Amino acid sequence: MIYSLTNPLFQKAKSVMKQIESHNYEAYFVGGCVRDTLLNLPIHDIDIATSARPDEVEMIFANTIDLGKQHGTVIVVWQKETYEITTFRTEDSYSDFRHPDNVQFVRNLQEDTLRRDFTINALAFDMNGRLYDYHGGKLDLDAKIIRAVGNPMERFYEDALRIFRAIRFASQLGFTVDGETFRSMKALAKNLNQVSMERIRIEMTKFLQGKYFNDSYQLLIDANIYRYLPMMNVANIQEVLDQLAKKYYAMHQHDYEFSESMSWAIFLMELPFNSVTDKRHFLKVWTHSNQTIKDIKNIVELIPLFKANQIDLETVYHYQNEILLEVEQYMQSQAIIQKPSIEVMFNSLPIKQRTDIVVNGADIMKMLGLTKGKPIVGELIAEIERNIILQQLDNTQEAIEAFVSSYLKDSVK
Ligand code: ATP
Ligand code: MG
Repeated sequence: MIYSLTNPLFQKAKSVMKQIESHNYEAYFVGGCVRDTLLNLPIHDIDIATSARPDEVEMIFANTIDLGKQHGTVIVVWQKETYEITTFRTEDSYSDFRHPDNVQFVRNLQEDTLRRDFTINALAFDMNGRLYDYHGGKLDLDAKIIRAVGNPMERFYEDALRIFRAIRFASQLGFTVDGETFRSMKALAKNLNQVSMERIRIEMTKFLQGKYFNDSYQLLIDANIYRYLPMMNVANIQEVLDQLAKKYYAMHQHDYEFSESMSWAIFLMELPFNSVTDKRHFLKVWTHSNQTIKDIKNIVELIPLFKANQIDLETVYHYQNEILLEVEQYMQSQAIIQKPSIEVMFNSLPIKQRTDIVVNGADIMKMLGLTKGKPIVGELIAEIERNIILQQLDNTQEAIEAFVSSYLKDSVK
């Protein structure tokens, strides 16, 4: 079957393929871009599989980045785009649960597809849009089934992350998991506790954000997966996930594509952790970056403020605008607030940041006749800032000078 690869990403990538083919190697589009094209979904990146060895790929292209050459992957920078180009390979078990122990490069596509996780991910297109389907992936796509390539017990034993990937694809695509594949997932779920947390977290985020979370979250419980995830083996897990699914569902109904931080913040709020220390520990164990943890913390702080109708100009000033807008969107999706007001409030702020104040620390020191910094300088700036935000003080030199002298008089009294 021939498909027309009209997506501009394919069009651009074709010239990469032509380069490879002109050196007498084979090259195919593989993985998510093939699956998503057949499902009429948008594609976000292009993966290429080739018969050329990594060294050979490096010889063909002037600009390459080594991304684990020993495992077969080279990044090629071509016409300002990057492409992940992976040599056809087979692999054995993952004793470090991260990389296969032994990668053997092979020269044909069919052998390469044997190492791929699911039939729907083992499809390939050549440059002209001819589909290569050695494992019935197209039938499974049509029937909306996630099925392991080959023997599922063996495949999940090799790499337990695939167990989690199965539920991630179920949540993203709204597919069901084939019976034998499901039974093997359940039998080997315990091996998940040996997989690196980063790899699980990446899949977990996609699982949480999936459009069909509502139809697939039960798999987390039914396949016993939650038991082997850190800090998720809680007594009321069913209730936690039921509530969470309702919230995400409403968010999807509003066509709102929420960020990674938002999905984890909502999740965290459902879990039975009361102390800030426990919440922080949870996010740390799940290997979130400090920036993500900060964003999640802000979201968790803002939600009750929105609920209590306590968002004022000071809040709008102190929290990052992007996060405020996202929480506002969340509140609307949950029918907790009706009308958006953050943008109007933000636009009405006389200053957006401290450096917008017409005076700085040195000016204040001059006004106070100080030659050395003292705590009072910081206190005064914070007071000036607060009064300007609340529109009780004009952001002008004269007004601020008057404010400073009356502040001094008051503090002397
Ligand atoms: P996405 O659209 O989320 O990127 P994807 O299917 O492209 O989905 P990737 O994680 O980018 O997923 O992996 C690319 C391809 O590599 C997969 O389609 C699959 O064929 C193969 N693959 C990835 N991870 C594994 C794994 N752990 N075991 C076996 N094959 C895998
Ligand atoms: Mg991909």
